[in-house]
Amino acid sequence: MAALPLPPTAPARQAFARLRSLWQRWFLWLLLALLVMVLLGTVVWLAGRHEADQVQAALDRDTSDAVAELRGGLQRNAQSLNALANDARARGSWPAEEAAGLLRAHREWLRLEWRDPQLKLRAAADSPYLARLFDEAAREASRADIALACTSGAKLGGTAYSPSHYVPTGEGSGMEVMEACLQAEDGSYLVATYAMRGTLIELVGPTLRRGQEVAFAEPDGTRLATVGAPRRSGSRIFTSQQLIDLPGVTLMLRVDGWRAEPDLFPNLLTGLVTGVSIALISVLVLLARDTRRRLKAERDLADTLAFRKAMEDSVITGLRARDLQGRITYANPAFCAMVGFSLDELIGRADAPYWPTELAHEYQQRQTRRLAGGSLPREGFESVYMRRDGTRFPVLIFEAPLLNAQRVQTGWMSAFIDVSEQRRVEELSRASQERLQASARLATVGEMASLLSHELTQPLAAIASYATGSLNLLDGPDEAPQELAMALRRIGEQAERAGQVIRSVHDFVRRRDRTREAVSPRALIDAVLPLVQLQARKVGARIDIVLERDLPAVTCDRTLVEQVLLNLARNAMQAMDVPGIDERVLTIRVAHGGGSNSSSPDSAGEARRWLAFSVADIGIGISTEVAARLFTPFFTTRSDGMGLGLSLCRTVVEQHGGALLFEANRPRGTVFRFTLLAAVPVAPLPLAALAESTLS
Ligand code: ADP
Repeated sequence: MAALPLPPTAPARQAFARLRSLWQRWFLWLLLALLVMVLLGTVVWLAGRHEADQVQAALDRDTSDAVAELRGGLQRNAQSLNALANDARARGSWPAEEAAGLLRAHREWLRLEWRDPQLKLRAAADSPYLARLFDEAAREASRADIALACTSGAKLGGTAYSPSHYVPTGEGSGMEVMEACLQAEDGSYLVATYAMRGTLIELVGPTLRRGQEVAFAEPDGTRLATVGAPRRSGSRIFTSQQLIDLPGVTLMLRVDGWRAEPDLFPNLLTGLVTGVSIALISVLVLLARDTRRRLKAERDLADTLAFRKAMEDSVITGLRARDLQGRITYANPAFCAMVGFSLDELIGRADAPYWPTELAHEYQQRQTRRLAGGSLPREGFESVYMRRDGTRFPVLIFEAPLLNAQRVQTGWMSAFIDVSEQRRVEELSRASQERLQASARLATVGEMASLLSHELTQPLAAIASYATGSLNLLDGPDEAPQELAMALRRIGEQAERAGQVIRSVHDFVRRRDRTREAVSPRALIDAVLPLVQLQARKVGARIDIVLERDLPAVTCDRTLVEQVLLNLARNAMQAMDVPGIDERVLTIRVAHGGGSNSSSPDSAGEARRWLAFSVADIGIGISTEVAARLFTPFFTTRSDGMGLGLSLCRTVVEQHGGALLFEANRPRGTVFRFTLLAAVPVAPLPLAALAESTLS
């Protein structure tokens, strides 16, 4: 069974896709670069070849010129020989003078010989430029060549030539020579010996250019004699050769020309083409770099967009954009989920389907104001929206102008936070706070009950003793109606006092509606005073109440603030309820000044808006360890304490916008101080008016 190909793994697939996209992206560039290279290569090569052709053609022309020159020279020489031959014949003897003159004029000739019809030497003359080259023996060696030339010359009736041959000159050297033979009319022969090299120097030399070398060569390329500049290394050689058909022999003239190597940029054309090519390649490189940069920018942009999209999709904050006409242009998934409408249902709509019907008109007006350039609260505003199913929910909206890349406003961007859960939690916490306060109050009541029993024993005992006294009076012999009446009045007074005690507890416990009202500080203190006094009496403490004059009322929830005062006073009493304190004094003081936690107390106007309540004792004081955990719920140092008092006090004060702080009292004890906002802003008072009134 054939094995099934395994499905490629995800990383392999990704790598493959990346490779393919890379190949697609670079393929065209590679192709373009390749084509340009081929094109440029061809152009440069063609230009080079054209140049080489031209050089070759020039060399061929030079060679033809050299050949023509050589022929002409040989022809003229033949005529001179002819003249000498005629001279010799006419005289019947060897014209030595003329021969010597000719040899002086023609450096290419090595020797002139006059030979009889049997080729026997009659007379000879040697070139004055060379030491005597030929002895008879050496000459005998050339006899065959001389015979060949003379036979051809005789046959043709003019000057004929022998093939070149080597003549040793002694000391291991020699030279290449060629015989030219002419038959005079009397049958005698005139033989001229040409030095091949000399021939080249004399007859071709003048036409030679620099950088050229001219040579007689064998058909196989072997050079017989060479003239010209020696070949430079690193140069390129052009060669041209032509056959010179002379009577009796065929010579080959070979001309070598060379040019500097490398011969890539031989002339302007090639230079120009190369320059253009370099420019083209540079442009190509720049273009490629530019494209790469563009691609990178595109990739970065795509990454940024993907990042943005992921961010917008993942946030739980709803986002919505509107154009300047109020039409929705964008909404993120969180917004769609919040209102329950799909993006398609929202896009392009100027009337929002998530506006509650009863509020739509108001929202429309708000939007019109906004579009007209109305100001936007930076901290956002709360509104009510409607889900698709009709349920309403509170949202917190932050709006900001939407600017495009040119910093021109194109609409509005809004962020929405669904605060229904937050509201629910707040409601829950408020309810639990209330429950906690109720339990704290009940705990206080528990304490009160023991105080109450202690407090009620006095009036009840007084009532009982007055009642016993009254009964005794009734049983007595003398009627004493006045005393009886007084005893009954006392009973009534004591019963009234007991009733008052019970009423004050009852008032405190009774749950009243939580409403804020303006209450004078005096009234607040008076309300708790009976209860505080109960405890003071038990502890044996004095209560000092110090109120600044002309104090304004404070806006507060009366029940809660009374409880704060009661708690603080009770804590103060407890702190003083230790042995070793002789004079126990609780001071409740109300004055202008203070502030909330956040406001700076420096400004006098601000300070006068606040009233500071302080409850000071001269008790045991608060250690650093206790201070660190003082406001922690359920922290207590008392065996029967609940540890809720101070934490609730602080919550209540902060709910009223104030602050609850404490500090050490002098010389001992503690001062708890809290602030409440005055009901009406008060004008600053002159210092004299700040005289204090003391109540005990
Ligand atoms: P509780 O009175 O039920 O113990 P509180 O929250 O009112 O709960 O007080 C917490 C603790 O703070 C008290 O147990 C006490 O140790 C300390 N404390 C409160 N007020 C004073 C004070 N005026 N002087 C000394 N210690 C105090």
